Amino acid sequence: MTRARKPSVRYVYHFGAPRAEGGAAMRDLLGGKGADVAEMANLGIPVPPGFTITTEVCAYFMAHAGGYPEGLGEEVAEHLHRLEVETGRRFGDPLNPLLVSVRSGARASMPGMMDTVLNLGLNDGTVRGLGERTRNPRFALDSYRRLIQMYGAVVLGVPSAQFEQALAARRGAARVSADHELRADALEDLVREQREIVRAATGADFPQDPHQQLWGAIAAVFRSWNSPRAVSYRAMHGYPDHWGTAVSVQAMVFGNMGDDCATGVAFTRDPSTGAKRFFGEYLVNAQGEDVVAGIRTPMAINGTAESLEARMPALYGQLVEVYERLERHYRDMQDIEFTIESGHLWLLQTRGGKRTGHAAVRIAVDMVDEGLIDERTAVKRVAPEQLEQLLHPTIDPADAPAAVAQGLPASPGAASGRVVFTVERAVARAGAGERVVLVRSETSPEDIDGMRVARAILTSTGGMTSHAAVVARGMGKCCVVGCTGITVDYAAKEFHANGRVFRDGDTITVEGSTGKVYAGDVPTVEATLDHTFDRFMTWADRFRTLKVRANADTPEDAVQARRFGAEGIGLCRTEHMFFQEDRIDWVRRMILADTREARLAALERILPMQREDFAGVFRAMDGLPVTIRLLDPPLHEFLPAQAAEIDALAQRIGVDAHALALKIRSLHEFNPMLGHRGCRLGITFPEIYEIQVRAIIEAACAVRAGGTVVYPEIMVPLVGLRAELAWLRALVVREADRVLALLRERIDYTVGTMIEVPRAALTAAEIADVSDFFSFGTNDLTQMTFGFSRDDSPKFMRAYIDAGILSRDPFETIDVDGVGRLVRLATEEGRRAKPSLKVGLCGEHGGDPASVRLMHEIGLDYVSCSPYRVPVARLAAAHAAL
Ligand code: ADP
Ligand code: MG
Ligand code: MG
Repeated sequence: MTRARKPSVRYVYHFGAPRAEGGAAMRDLLGGKGADVAEMANLGIPVPPGFTITTEVCAYFMAHAGGYPEGLGEEVAEHLHRLEVETGRRFGDPLNPLLVSVRSGARASMPGMMDTVLNLGLNDGTVRGLGERTRNPRFALDSYRRLIQMYGAVVLGVPSAQFEQALAARRGAARVSADHELRADALEDLVREQREIVRAATGADFPQDPHQQLWGAIAAVFRSWNSPRAVSYRAMHGYPDHWGTAVSVQAMVFGNMGDDCATGVAFTRDPSTGAKRFFGEYLVNAQGEDVVAGIRTPMAINGTAESLEARMPALYGQLVEVYERLERHYRDMQDIEFTIESGHLWLLQTRGGKRTGHAAVRIAVDMVDEGLIDERTAVKRVAPEQLEQLLHPTIDPADAPAAVAQGLPASPGAASGRVVFTVERAVARAGAGERVVLVRSETSPEDIDGMRVARAILTSTGGMTSHAAVVARGMGKCCVVGCTGITVDYAAKEFHANGRVFRDGDTITVEGSTGKVYAGDVPTVEATLDHTFDRFMTWADRFRTLKVRANADTPEDAVQARRFGAEGIGLCRTEHMFFQEDRIDWVRRMILADTREARLAALERILPMQREDFAGVFRAMDGLPVTIRLLDPPLHEFLPAQAAEIDALAQRIGVDAHALALKIRSLHEFNPMLGHRGCRLGITFPEIYEIQVRAIIEAACAVRAGGTVVYPEIMVPLVGLRAELAWLRALVVREADRVLALLRERIDYTVGTMIEVPRAALTAAEIADVSDFFSFGTNDLTQMTFGFSRDDSPKFMRAYIDAGILSRDPFETIDVDGVGRLVRLATEEGRRAKPSLKVGLCGEHGGDPASVRLMHEIGLDYVSCSPYRVPVARLAAAHAAL
């Protein structure tokens, strides 16, 4: 990063009327703020002049322990001089002082993450000169006290609260409620007091030398690039550390000179709905920071009697003209900052405005209709993740109180309800028409009915692929897991959240999109999928090549999936059907059976129910492929663990409770995820798989008779050996053909396998030989490739990420170098062995945009994800193709 100064290298770029030395294209060098201020200057929009020190200087500063490249000092001095000439003022001149702001600005906007200092250049001498020149000593003192506070906090590290307290005390003494009501004498006292604070905290006086102030502020802005909040914001948004921030030094304009002055922030369209209306807030007699700080409540810029539109109509008109120009120029919704100084409008910032998912889609579609952008640009404008907000209810951030706890955002949406701790309670209360939130330390398959009736699920442990998370996402149900701030006490029927107690029946609100938990009933906004959304998605579909299917276990999920645009079912997990109340005891009888006959008898009872489910799924997917996975989980998952439940089951199915308990214990496994599950079940209990195949084929024949077009794909889980699949394929084909022969029907079904054991990926060519398709089960594949248990990894994942050992949880975003490499290898070798091999992915990664991009690159035929993520994956696939 180090470089000596070559004559061709420059570190400082001027901006101002009539032309700037930079522009919007130089974002990397000048930062977004500096580049866009320059761009506005070039457009003839009034911006206070100034200059920008490049991000390269930031890199140098970081690499040289706060040192600057040779020649920077002179370059800054030259530009400062140019600014003095341009403004007709001098920096540090006691009679006519130039004041400047020092502003941060990275390539991409990081609102509020780095620092800015206003009113630099004021000292005991210039404050008097400024007061006299403007005949407004109050204004000069107001600017001075702001400088001392900002400089004190940002550059000298004095806690802001100390300054705030002094300010509040002045307001109290003067019996006023707002800062702008403080008179000059009060401000003079305040300045004195603030300087005491600085002296007490730092042992030195507030610097009187404007140049010392300037360089102090420049260094502080560079340092703020590595402030903890900036670092974590970058980590969250994936911005690299090497970008650095630029620093803009800009002549001050003053919104705090009196009642003909103002400052404000506006959006060229409504950032929450996307509606085409100019929207913003402003304050009279104030400086920029006040609008966000919230000490005074800002007023709307239009539509009311106190609005800027009503009070300063000519200036409002100019502002409208400027915003329209900016929006046409950038062809995007802009977020702008402006200041009015004694009847003059100045623009201080413009940037692409942050917006909700709703607004993003609406603005993109409207702008296509307005001829501002083409469809391709529109599709690129919306981040796939943003779509999630559209598909689920959300909490309006403006209405949100402080959260009582924070967990992992496992499944998006927001919902309120009464706390329940057990399935029985959940079912009973929901049956009585109440809204409930199921709170557990973790969930297990037995909780499925409780989860189904709950509006939201909250667990204190577990990660993003824990049972609760996976099932909730499949159901499209709001869920927060791994909420370590709560402890669940089942015995006392209460949970504790950071010192607060919530009892059975108390109301809470859970927001699965953010992981937040709130006390009480926080209002939510419902999702609406409208015509605009459909149009947008049609455009996205036009660009993508990767198909998107859904993981859906029930006919209802399948209907939902199709509504969201799924092009088939990539994973129908038969075990979830087993958990339904009317059949679980038959499943248990089947598992507990000692003989093949007893097992078959139980299976015969399950058969018609499975057939019904499959028929429902086939009907919902008329004309589209449906991949059904044969039974996968270890059998003990279907059995109760608690003594009371075992007793109850023994009674229901008429066996001895003690014998039952022993039998259940004998099914215990030390490592169930690597135990007797998947295709190993099919090999030891072939009748289980046979019955499932029969149900699939009979269902297919039945619905086809009703006119439905079916493409069943039968999938064998957890295969690691060619011989396993060969053996089971023979079983499947034998049973399917037997049923078809009996029914005198013909159905084109295929038989394939999941690739989720590393050995299967490594021997893909052999396995492809006996497989019609591959579907990567990337949850298990990740688990087995890393040797990370899905359920236990949350205990150490945070530490891995914090230490930089992993950058993302590999269960959320696919690990490119390891798991991704296995996927690529297996796809290539499998296809080489069998060119017709169909290849898809059905893990949780199917809904993760980065993973979708990788699957597009590798050339998979489809990804499959939970129904609510289907639009996200469709858009991610379009982005990958663009
Ligand atoms: P942020 O990135 O936190 O928005 P800014 O650099 O935009 O920081 O500055 C914070 C506030 O100060 C904004 O309201 C901005 O408009 C205002 N401001 C910055 N520079 C000037 C200036 N030269 N004259 C008047 N106001 C300014
Ligand atoms: Mg700003
Ligand atoms: Mg699996």
